[in-house]
Amino acid sequence: MAAAPPGAGDALVSRMVRPHIRTLKPYTPILPFEVLSETLGRKPEEIVKLDANENPYGTPPSVRDALASMPFAHIYPDPETRKLRAALERDTGCPAANLLVGCGADELIDLLMRCVLEPGDTIVDTPPTFTMYAFDCDVNGGRTVEVPRDANFQVDVDGVIRAAKENGAKIVFLTSPNNPDGSVMPRADVDRVLDALPDTLVVLDEAYVEFCEDYRTVTRIAEVPARENLIVLRTFSKRAALAGLRVGYGAFPSWIMTYMWAMKQPYNVSVAAETAACAALEDEAYLAFVRDALVSERERLISGLRGDDIPFLEPYPSQANFILCNVVGGKDAAGVRDTLARDEGIMIRHYAKPAMKNFVRISVGTPEHTDRILSALRRMA
Ligand code: PMP
Repeated sequence: MAAAPPGAGDALVSRMVRPHIRTLKPYTPILPFEVLSETLGRKPEEIVKLDANENPYGTPPSVRDALASMPFAHIYPDPETRKLRAALERDTGCPAANLLVGCGADELIDLLMRCVLEPGDTIVDTPPTFTMYAFDCDVNGGRTVEVPRDANFQVDVDGVIRAAKENGAKIVFLTSPNNPDGSVMPRADVDRVLDALPDTLVVLDEAYVEFCEDYRTVTRIAEVPARENLIVLRTFSKRAALAGLRVGYGAFPSWIMTYMWAMKQPYNVSVAAETAACAALEDEAYLAFVRDALVSERERLISGLRGDDIPFLEPYPSQANFILCNVVGGKDAAGVRDTLARDEGIMIRHYAKPAMKNFVRISVGTPEHTDRILSALRRMA
């Protein structure tokens, strides 16, 4: 088919496409393995992928078995994900009545905004953090008010409270551990925000909480039903290595559940996603093994990165499955990322945003991945 001449659709664009969508900056996703493999000219199994906080151990063997013997893929999935929510109630201590499952936690962020934001309504964001909140806010015609974190990535709690009050914010997003640095927000700080803003929804995004020490004492998910303004998000992408199957969940106050149910796509969680998540939850021993392996590898990677033989990286302490590093000593952070990709087939994350341009983020991999990246970085010193 011949390409349309330039400008051919302009009239249709202005008639059809909503103004805030015309100026939308698309989310920058990472490249999938197959595409990476072609771009780098390396086989997928030769690539060390440490750029998207995925879990390198892959899906638990029990999940693969459950998927292989899944009986009802030809029938639409359960719109209420009953089996998974019951399992999550047992796992989290939060009643199933307050739990909603999504096509990744990402879907729940968007769904919440579609539920509460009128065009022009405000969310409070604390950059540097997960960029999906600001992106979904743009998609939903909302306004993002930024309260930047300090040099150690700690949240400016008074600033958040002030900004939320001044702008009548409907949602505040707090991420703990935070992506990209892995710091945990102190419990008392979360409480201060919750108590000061009874009319604002406080979303505590705990996508990486399982990598914290004694995480069951860190997560706030079980408290959700007792509060009116706390939402907690969690995911199977990291802990259970189901990123490609897309399954996340959230705990929501009772008063909003009716509306979240009413507006969600009925079949948002596929049969495969629910089957996989249920099988993963049953495989507690494997999940614990993988978590412990990643936590101990995180500590080994961080001490390697602190070594004198890699003088150009200054890593930040992390409670998640990734490590943020400041690139110093005259080295260029984007250059470090590019050299690792081109010469070593190792992918790490660099940020285009000006405030983060001197940083790289390295996801924690297997012991072999740690060895490979540490020796590659030593060669670059
Ligand atoms: N929250 C944070 C902080 C994340 O980093 C991510 C994934 N990058 C998500 C949520 C989304 O998780 P999911 O894969 O369940 O959509």
